[in-house]
Amino acid sequence: MDEIKIFAPATVANLSCGFDVLGCCLDTVGDEMLIRKNNSREVKITKITGQDLPLETDKNVAGVAVKAMLEKLNSDQGFDIEIYKKIKSGSGIGSSAASSAGAVFAVNKLLNEPFSLQELIPFAMEGERLASGNAHADNVAPALLGGFSLVKSYEPLEILKLPTPPELRMVILHPLIEVNTRDSRSIIKQSISLKKAINQWGNLAALVSALYTEDYGLLGRSLKDEIVEPVRSILIPFFDELKKIAKDHGALGFGISGSGPSVFAMCRGEEKAEEVKKAIQEFYQEKEIEFDLHLSKIGNEGIKILG
Ligand code: ADP
Repeated sequence: MDEIKIFAPATVANLSCGFDVLGCCLDTVGDEMLIRKNNSREVKITKITGQDLPLETDKNVAGVAVKAMLEKLNSDQGFDIEIYKKIKSGSGIGSSAASSAGAVFAVNKLLNEPFSLQELIPFAMEGERLASGNAHADNVAPALLGGFSLVKSYEPLEILKLPTPPELRMVILHPLIEVNTRDSRSIIKQSISLKKAINQWGNLAALVSALYTEDYGLLGRSLKDEIVEPVRSILIPFFDELKKIAKDHGALGFGISGSGPSVFAMCRGEEKAEEVKKAIQEFYQEKEIEFDLHLSKIGNEGIKILG
């Protein structure tokens, strides 16, 4: 096999109580990539459509992630990478992660899988280091593994795949405003009170339990964030109103996706998700902010091979 076409999914990191440790993969929102071997011994980004992103290999997360992987293998195989962007950069739904995870996944397939999906995570994290200055795993892990991922620890890196309750749906609103990941990290407080920490780890542990037991009620009661959301939500226009609308229409939880500006409403069942999506759309279209709105299942498969 010399060429592979893949779907590289968008992901939602943090999920309220899981700041920097939890993320989930979407099923129908994502980019496409075409990767083929070349004879030039170089990794080249040959085409990008949909977004204005760097074509220089060392400035594109896909190039950086693949180079990290080839270095580990001591391989001088060259690759051409085409990226068909559907996820907008800086949206907070893992645009950079989709490219770096997608690229290492595809190259691994073309090299007859020298690495497991788990082993690909550190290479994809190098792409995240380029994008945000921080090699975080909470987008690239769910993109590669599918479903929900928990970063148990960074040193050593240990990542768990958690089960996906089948009825879960995600409604994602992306207000088309700029929130830079670095800016939105810089406003977070570096110290928190013990009381808040106790509440947060209680919620995170309960959320994990709810995923295993498919307890949608408990899941809803656990999707809370007393630490980051109160600070970051001020960057998102009408956050409190949106949260109330989502909850009033039966969403299990509502929060910021990654570092924003996208927000998510987690819902039980397609019908409820459609209702929440409609209510959010009706509210936001009266505001003078352009937006994208998505409804997706959780992508249990992660990256998909298209051909
Ligand atoms: P997101 O959370 O949606 O990934 P970030 O703001 O964290 O958004 O990352 C986007 C940054 O990564 C931008 O500076 C963008 O130029 C850079 N970047 C480099 N290559 C890519 C790529 N292939 N896809 C998306 N962003 C990329």
